[in-house]
Amino acid sequence: MGQKTFLLSLLVLLTALGISFSSAGQSSQKQLDAIPYTTEHRQLVAELTKDFETAIGSEKIITHLEDWRNWETVENYTYGKDRGSLPMIADLDALHPYFKEKITKLIATCKRKGIELAIVESYRTVAKQNEYKAMGKKYTRATGGHSKHQYGLAIDVVPVIDSIAQWDNARLWKKIGSMGEQLGLRWGGRWRTLYDPGHFEWSGGLSGDSLAKGLAPYVPKSISNQYPCLEEDLQQLAEYWSAWESEQAMITRESSSNPESRPANKMNSNSTAESRSAIASGMK
Ligand SMILES: [Zn+2]
Repeated sequence: MGQKTFLLSLLVLLTALGISFSSAGQSSQKQLDAIPYTTEHRQLVAELTKDFETAIGSEKIITHLEDWRNWETVENYTYGKDRGSLPMIADLDALHPYFKEKITKLIATCKRKGIELAIVESYRTVAKQNEYKAMGKKYTRATGGHSKHQYGLAIDVVPVIDSIAQWDNARLWKKIGSMGEQLGLRWGGRWRTLYDPGHFEWSGGLSGDSLAKGLAPYVPKSISNQYPCLEEDLQQLAEYWSAWESEQAMITRESSSNPESRPANKMNSNSTAESRSAIASGMK
């Protein structure tokens, strides 16, 4: 027993000596690998990492909050039609997650069949809706707050062939419409009062009025587990929508108080306008 303790003490002593020898000697690769090996080092590293993490964290929050600014937009006349001076939000991320998935499928199905769909407008602000309303009956019947577009539950698309939007190709519309209907979407090509073949919507059976009252569309239970954070996602989406709402309401106010700064002129410098110019140039 006594011998065992002695041997153990010797081992401890030798180990300690070994460490002190090696730290007194030339720094070896072994030592570098062992960093951080002092309390001082560890504290320093911890402090540096903490600062680093804080920097990353705050940056993340800022970009996250500004995500809505990165949404794809479309300028007036991009697809050959007058759609008013406020830009159209044409990002799929602006849609209700369940509806977004359906539209993604529709676009993919069309692509497989050789039909290229362009997104003309997804989410629509009240300001934009009111602009359409002011432009006349052929644009919309719904006032701000009553269109499915205001809830991320509607989208306007158009097939594009050789950079030219095919608004009047009835055969093509029929194909696209039936594909959308097979996905469970409501298709505006069925409407008699305002034939709108580029329009698809899904509202889980809710009317525009119910949506305006704040009711959320019902996502089928069988697939609701595919959206575990739906409520949080919708809340985030609502924040982005309201950011766009303020932005477009401000543009509307600016342009009505100062005709010189009409949004249509401002938007010409937008990079989205440039990237879409290839398509626009193919149209009147
Ligand atoms: Zn529409």
